Amino acid sequence: MSDYKKTNDLTEKTTPVDADLLRLDDSADSFAWKKATIANVSTKVQADLIADDNTFTGTTTLDKIGLLKSKSHSPNGIVTFIMDDGNACCYTDYKPLFDAQGEVACPAIVTDWVGTTNFMTLAQLLELQTSGWEILSHTKTHPEFLSALTEAQIITELSESKAYFTANGLTVENMVYPSNDNDAVVRKITMDYYNSGRAAITQYFSPAYNTSPVDSYNMLSVEIVGVEAADIANYKTYIDNAYTNNGWMIFFTHFATAERLAAYDEIIDYIQAKNMEIVTVKQALEITGNYFEGGDGVAIGRDGIRANKIVMHALSADPTTPRQGKSVIWQSDGTGSGDDGDIMMKITAVAGGTFEGGGNTKTITLVDFSAS
Ligand SMILES: [Zn+2]
Repeated sequence: MSDYKKTNDLTEKTTPVDADLLRLDDSADSFAWKKATIANVSTKVQADLIADDNTFTGTTTLDKIGLLKSKSHSPNGIVTFIMDDGNACCYTDYKPLFDAQGEVACPAIVTDWVGTTNFMTLAQLLELQTSGWEILSHTKTHPEFLSALTEAQIITELSESKAYFTANGLTVENMVYPSNDNDAVVRKITMDYYNSGRAAITQYFSPAYNTSPVDSYNMLSVEIVGVEAADIANYKTYIDNAYTNNGWMIFFTHFATAERLAAYDEIIDYIQAKNMEIVTVKQALEITGNYFEGGDGVAIGRDGIRANKIVMHALSADPTTPRQGKSVIWQSDGTGSGDDGDIMMKITAVAGGTFEGGGNTKTITLVDFSAS
């Protein structure tokens, strides 16, 4: 192995990797290039994609992260209902209510609690799944705060619950964080096992709906707790806002009371009257989820890109003038507009335009490198 290979080892790179600057002239480096390119997706996914014997094993894992899935469109916004913890009342009370409404919901299951006193049995979970309900993971033991655990402990909570689901015929692709608690490490590890992670907002904050690009590993939701008239009016306002903004509203709850069941009936009637779809998390992600999901690093949705950093290459020539109503940002190397290191922007606006479709273009220095 050459010294070059050593100095360009993947472990010395950070994402996004300049894959085109890695060498391709022998099989070992070719492998390094493939690894580095896929590393732009996620470090763990890259490891999953390429087995120890260098064979590419990517198809199912790429599907796991939602790469380039086709998306449909839901013009009125969508709503998802989640019952946390797998309490028995999900089966005995919520299931008949949702059946009567012709709708489905999603129980979030703690695998160590399945079949214990006051929790649903495996047979009940399988029946829910068969009826179109989506089973979600809520970890193995329900630690109060995943972010307080070590990485090894978080992995155990996620991997062993996932193994339980798989071994028992349950298809579980999405996750609910206990106490809605998550941090960067929790989100990164969750991405290795699940397509999404649900968090929550403080009650009565707004907006509370999710929009594209979705924060797939920190999704917003609101708990249905209070059942006074003012509470129900608030839930309806959340639904109205999701409807107006084509958003995805997630509600969750824990236990059933007669009053709360009545509130659910009223809320579901309200959603149906607005012609909004009630969907599972998986269905919602198919409608409004990201085309490409890279966790906190980068995500591409139908309505935009979310990224934790943007890396620019210096250009020797100015980029093509953007059409009317668009703009472009780049780094100058001093050959075209701007001095070496300046961050530039070209904006084409309608104001001052002299011909149809043209507009007026200005080139602006956003950052003067020599002066900073
Ligand atoms: Zn819980």
